[in-house]
Amino acid sequence: MRDVRPTNNVTRADTRMRNLIYFALIMGLFSFLFGGCRKQPTQPSASTPQTMPPGDIGYSQLDITETFDDHLRLKPEDWIQTIPLNQSVPNGKGLPPTTATADEIHKVADEMSKVRESISIPNDGVYCPVCHIANTQLTKLRTPCPKCARPLLKFGWD
Ligand SMILES: [Zn+2]
Repeated sequence: MRDVRPTNNVTRADTRMRNLIYFALIMGLFSFLFGGCRKQPTQPSASTPQTMPPGDIGYSQLDITETFDDHLRLKPEDWIQTIPLNQSVPNGKGLPPTTATADEIHKVADEMSKVRESISIPNDGVYCPVCHIANTQLTKLRTPCPKCARPLLKFGWD
């Protein structure tokens, strides 16, 4: 009978040891999996900065008006003076340099207008990025500017 007890103790100890080994193995497996999982997200997060630049395009027009809600007080036939953005935002993304020619400016503004024209934005009007004038009537879109005869482009008032 006395011999049985130590045997039992040994088996208990054995089981305890085995449990410890299992525990160590499971911990090792977890750390391996965790380490493996940690490696995976670094790849997408490393590529996230690459997807950021498109969201950086901030401008859909080259000019702004001096005050908000100008369109609310303007009559359909009224033209308002606009301010070129590249004067207040030098090196602004997508903006032409202040040294750009009238045709270069209109070309850049034309591309921006195409994007803006693809979206329906309430209250949008028209403007000439070369003469820096704007009008509330979107029906004038792509009609000749009253000053320089270049096509009028889509203009947002906000
Ligand atoms: Zn013009």
